[in-house]
Amino acid sequence: MHELSIATSILKTANQEVEKINGKKVEEIYLEIGKISGIEIPSLEFAWEQCMKDSVLENANVHITEPDGFAICAECNHEFEISKIYDSCERCGGPFKEIITGQEMKIKKLIIS
Ligand SMILES: [Zn+2]
Repeated sequence: MHELSIATSILKTANQEVEKINGKKVEEIYLEIGKISGIEIPSLEFAWEQCMKDSVLENANVHITEPDGFAICAECNHEFEISKIYDSCERCGGPFKEIITGQEMKIKKLIIS
């Protein structure tokens, strides 16, 4: 399951950060998960429960922001919003050449006590 490996890697990063400052646990975690990252948040939340038990993240408040997907058209260079990875340009129907935002999955901030 994709989401379980994501939760595991978040935990790994959190453990390193907590160790770095000799902290005890994470109070707040801010995640950025793009709308076209392919990550399903309900699945991630489900995996989270299992993964974070007895960890530094067990009782952390989780804040998730979901940046919209934007891409640049390969045909007309128009910048358009995409909600699915295979969406085509709204102006000319062409494929995108580059995705600008929406695929990120990162930890923006950790508040450690
Ligand atoms: Zn176009």
